[in-house]
Amino acid sequence: MASMEAQSTRVFLPPGISPRLAAAAEEALAQVAPQWEAAARRGEELQWRVLACLQEQRLGEADLGAGVGYGYGDSGRAKLDRAMARLFGAEAALVRQSVVSGTHAVALALFAALRPGDELLVATGEPYPSLAGILGLRHGTPGSLAEWGVSCRVADGPERAAAAVGPRTKAVLIQRSRGYAWRSSLGVGAIGELIGRLRAARPELRTVVDNCYGELVEELEPTAVGADLIAGSLIKNPGGGLAPGGGYVAGRAELVERAAARLTAPGLGSQIGPALSPHRIFFQGLFLAPQVVAAAVQGAVFAARFFELLGFETLPGWEEPRTDIVQAVRLGSAEAVLAFCRGVQLSAPVDAHAVPEPGDLPGYSQPVVMAGGTFVQGASLELSADAPLAPPYVVYLQGGLTRSHAVWGAVGAARELERRGFLP
Ligand SMILES: *Cc1c(COP(=O)(O)O)cnc(C)c1O
Repeated sequence: MASMEAQSTRVFLPPGISPRLAAAAEEALAQVAPQWEAAARRGEELQWRVLACLQEQRLGEADLGAGVGYGYGDSGRAKLDRAMARLFGAEAALVRQSVVSGTHAVALALFAALRPGDELLVATGEPYPSLAGILGLRHGTPGSLAEWGVSCRVADGPERAAAAVGPRTKAVLIQRSRGYAWRSSLGVGAIGELIGRLRAARPELRTVVDNCYGELVEELEPTAVGADLIAGSLIKNPGGGLAPGGGYVAGRAELVERAAARLTAPGLGSQIGPALSPHRIFFQGLFLAPQVVAAAVQGAVFAARFFELLGFETLPGWEEPRTDIVQAVRLGSAEAVLAFCRGVQLSAPVDAHAVPEPGDLPGYSQPVVMAGGTFVQGASLELSADAPLAPPYVVYLQGGLTRSHAVWGAVGAARELERRGFLP
């Protein structure tokens, strides 16, 4: 007789899949039950915490609307900032629709932390491609930190970072999620230890964490373990799949205000800026975010085991602890990457008929293929997959607004691999 636990992980599978895929999916679903249970539990605990943060702000109907003009005295804006700060264990937060992306949010944090003549050390190795422009690693990018007289060095991974702190190093950038690198993401515990080692080398160092894809996966955020600033995108985790855009910076109040001065103007800072579109969807997204993130984590754990059973190398492994929602699968060829992305796209609610093609994106130096099919363009807490079309041909799968959709995306990708003869 099936136990209640086995029952609880039963997911409707797409009809018509091959016996091999059905068997692998059923086996994976049965095996990941403990991880799914843990993710669901984390999602509930964190949603409870979000609820408390909103109540603490005395969120009311009047806070849910939009602002126009200067946007002075916008209570919704202030309450969203404070609720997010409390949730993240930070002194302050700047949560804005006018932050165009995660890259923009990280740029605000770095320009807040650094001044001409300073040096930035990237602690986690080669940074996410879209950050290279901010740092000035890509020669001649207009407006880069390099143009402002800030130099940048990349340390050879977190273990070597403290030893790499030099006399002019003023700030350190720590990337939590793996980006397009075949390495482990950095858990919040490991980030706390790294910050400890960096502060032992130089107590006044400013630490900035690129928190993209990490929010609400673990109990704590990096701001609760000593990070001076964290930054991320609202079309990833903290927008709950509902926010139509935006980004945030959170951390020490004085630095968050400097980020606001960069976003608006010195002297204006965080007290100005009309919301233009109503705050409602951002509060609603934040309220749902923990459980949507939990579904995405469940999908990633399923995909890890499912693709491993099908003969692929996956990172992280299905039993490893999670600090972000991204699942890397090593496919080994450009054709297999394209088939995988096609399968994810075929599983989408929007543009399922479109065929993902590699293209050049602003901020990326290699052609990247992206399977989206999302309600919000580029939103990657929604089911999505992307890959630089270059060796070692690894695809990065993430998101799913429900755990069933996340499972269908992985199964859909496998179905295309199977159809084209790419299953080992
Ligand atoms: C998504 C992401 C970013 C920012 O990307 P945007 O597309 O600008 O939002 C930065 N760093 C990492 C590690 C990311 O995953």
